[in-house]
Amino acid sequence: MTGTAYQLEVNPQIPERLERLEELANNLWYSWDRPTQGLFASLSHPLWQASNHNPKAFLKRADQKRLEATAENPVFLAALNRVVSNYDSYHEMPSMAHVHGRPFKEDDLIAYFCAEFGFHESLPIYSGGLGILAGDHCKAASDMGLPFIGIGLLYRQGYFQQTLNADGQQHATYNDSDFDDLPVSPVLDAQGQEVLVAVDFPGRTIQAKLWEVKVGHVRLILLDTWLPQNSERDREITHRLYGGDKTTRIEQEILLGVGGARALALLGLKPTVWHVNEGHAAFLILERMRSLMGNGLPFAAALEAVAANVVFTTHTPVPAGHDHFPEEMIRHYFSAWCHELGISFEQLMALGAEPGKTDLNMTSLAVRGSRHHNGVSRIHGDVSADICRYLWPQIEPYENPMDYVTNGVHLSTFLAPEWFETFERYLGIGWRERQTEHASWDGIKLIPDATFWSIRQQLKSKLLKLVRERVREQHQRNQGSPAHLDRLLKYADPDNPNVLTIGFARRFATYKRAALLFQDPTWLREIIGQADRPVLFLFAGKAHPADLPGQEIIRKIAQMAKLPEFEGRILLVEGYDLHLSRSLVSGVDVWLNNPIYPLEASGTSGMKAAMNGALNLSVLDGWWGEGYDETGEVANGWAIKPAPGHLGDAERDAEEARTLYEILQDQVIPTYYHTGPMGYSPEWVAMSKCSIATIAPRFNVSRMVGEYVKKFYAPAASHGRRYAEDDFAVARDVAEWKARVRGAWPGVRLHRLDTAERRLKFGGALHIEVAVQLNGLGAADVTVEALFGRPGHHGSIGRVRHYPLHCSGGTASGEALYTLELTPELCGKLEYRIRIFPTHPALIHKFETGLMVWL
Ligand SMILES: *Cc1c(COP(=O)(O)O)cnc(C)c1O
Repeated sequence: MTGTAYQLEVNPQIPERLERLEELANNLWYSWDRPTQGLFASLSHPLWQASNHNPKAFLKRADQKRLEATAENPVFLAALNRVVSNYDSYHEMPSMAHVHGRPFKEDDLIAYFCAEFGFHESLPIYSGGLGILAGDHCKAASDMGLPFIGIGLLYRQGYFQQTLNADGQQHATYNDSDFDDLPVSPVLDAQGQEVLVAVDFPGRTIQAKLWEVKVGHVRLILLDTWLPQNSERDREITHRLYGGDKTTRIEQEILLGVGGARALALLGLKPTVWHVNEGHAAFLILERMRSLMGNGLPFAAALEAVAANVVFTTHTPVPAGHDHFPEEMIRHYFSAWCHELGISFEQLMALGAEPGKTDLNMTSLAVRGSRHHNGVSRIHGDVSADICRYLWPQIEPYENPMDYVTNGVHLSTFLAPEWFETFERYLGIGWRERQTEHASWDGIKLIPDATFWSIRQQLKSKLLKLVRERVREQHQRNQGSPAHLDRLLKYADPDNPNVLTIGFARRFATYKRAALLFQDPTWLREIIGQADRPVLFLFAGKAHPADLPGQEIIRKIAQMAKLPEFEGRILLVEGYDLHLSRSLVSGVDVWLNNPIYPLEASGTSGMKAAMNGALNLSVLDGWWGEGYDETGEVANGWAIKPAPGHLGDAERDAEEARTLYEILQDQVIPTYYHTGPMGYSPEWVAMSKCSIATIAPRFNVSRMVGEYVKKFYAPAASHGRRYAEDDFAVARDVAEWKARVRGAWPGVRLHRLDTAERRLKFGGALHIEVAVQLNGLGAADVTVEALFGRPGHHGSIGRVRHYPLHCSGGTASGEALYTLELTPELCGKLEYRIRIFPTHPALIHKFETGLMVWL
């Protein structure tokens, strides 16, 4: 054909009776409300698939006649009515309806900053775990009615789409989103004009357009630089998530942190809590300091005032996950900032300094600019405390302020719809509102085994159908033969789902060791090759386009899958996204996870699997370190104990692979195939029920956000207020006090005056006398204390008792005298230590100064 092809899209007129479909399509409520999704799908399944389950795109392309006919269809209208009335009652819920204990004030607002948000496949601005967690966080904030707003970037291309060739070579395709198709709309001002925020960059000002996303009650504001008034280069800032080079990265992070904070100010919003979710957003600290210092607050006081209500969450111990920027780059982007505020460049760099490095580290900046910090599981909290120990150099990591909140997942999003009715029946109406109560899950046991099993099989069958479609598409694109396809799909048969199916899907980062399963192919063949006990492995996941070793792992799995003995038993499915993820986690029997300990900060896919009744087989790392439970009648999964830390990499992998094989061979496969007369294994069903009942109440995101509220948000809001009162009197006072204490600290010393008793009769008193060189500090500036415990308990919190020593005058040589009379409550061998550290009543964490001297 010749000539110009003009593009045209004809959009239907939505009949009046169906009008509210447009409202439903514009609120990500649909991403977790299954009946809403079902409603759209019922209009046209093929179009629903073709529009990637995106209601807005779907409505724009729906057939006019079909819509008109539907508007007359009483069954559809009744279903629409039900959905809309649920939607309305959800949105009529009063603010903070599900927040315990009224911890917030009328004007409180939590601003949550993140570089990616994963709600649903229809809004492709996420890459993996961090984004999905952020999406779930917003959903839970909406469910609870929290005063909450999200801030992020609207990427034109989001993350890449993945295809794999026959050799497992990953191909990344980037597609521009048509923003008209996305569930986003421009933020408009009172005059109905689009709102633009200006951000200063070296030699230019960049404009960013503000978009808004509705997530139930919660609003998410996204910044977008794709505007004609920006230079072509600057338009590209929001081009791709995690794309480009270091320059793109710093510009994105300036846009997110600085631009995001300005956007909120422009909208007249005054957050009282600022959550920096991963270091990417840490520049918001500098922007907030700028605005306070512009009003005359000194640098140090501005830092205290800002930090008081910043919450920072770190999400990975892997060094590559912590952004840092060279000094020159920071100078380029921030020297104007320093100039404006009259501070030296060194002062700025010191905020993000890390010992032995000259770069500015975003994690260091985030920790120095926040007083509430956490990792995302118990193990990761400890690891992060250790990674960040240099920020509180004289404090042992186990006592430093790095805390943890274990991640969780949004149950309504990840629980397969097939479970809802059954749960309602056996757990009672309102079970979702009671999801964090353990006892409300006891009802799982009451589900008849046969019913339970049949739902599990149904879900697996659905998954296998999807897997077949995807593998067929892959195979045809790669020009494979039809005969070979039959062999590949031999075990992925939706009509015969009784094949033990094990899933492994996650980012192909090397530390996740996706290929650990293939350490010993001979052994593996013996384990999974039995004709009467077939095992199917499903692999899926993306490797970052710059991560070549990660892509190599995909190729290795593809090679293994091609070996005749593994043919059809190992399938590699391309295009891992939220849709495939939901299907995998609900359909597999076993969810496999074997990262290198302790590099999996938390992991969340295993939680999604568990609440759907899949059994986790995982290294005891991240959340599984807390989730694995063998105390009941049956265990809730299987644990691979990490090999001892002194082993080399190869030995460690060999040892952990051996454990994996042994568990598969001796436990997983025999348990699954130990079928009773009903055609299923009663023990398996018991374990599967136990998995739901023990994991769903603890690892859901409502529990998680509830913990953030209690541990961080509520305290941060009140600390922020307190620091700001009376023209920032407390912030100024704390800043001055810290400077004074830091100056005096190197001269602070203790020594003992009495001779330490080594033996005491029970009931007798121990007398301690210590002389303290305060070096100009007053008794009110410090705490001197003795720590008592059993020998060897030093470092184990909760087992050590703290007793303050009292200042009881001075010594002849001008030191302060501190004494303690103590009658030990325990008999036997005891151990005690004595230390001094600075104290001030307004401190948010008692060790936040990082200063301490031990005797
Ligand atoms: C849940 C989820 C993740 C995160 O899973 P991990 O266990 O952290 O690997 C990543 N991608 C998708 C699509 C998910 O749904």
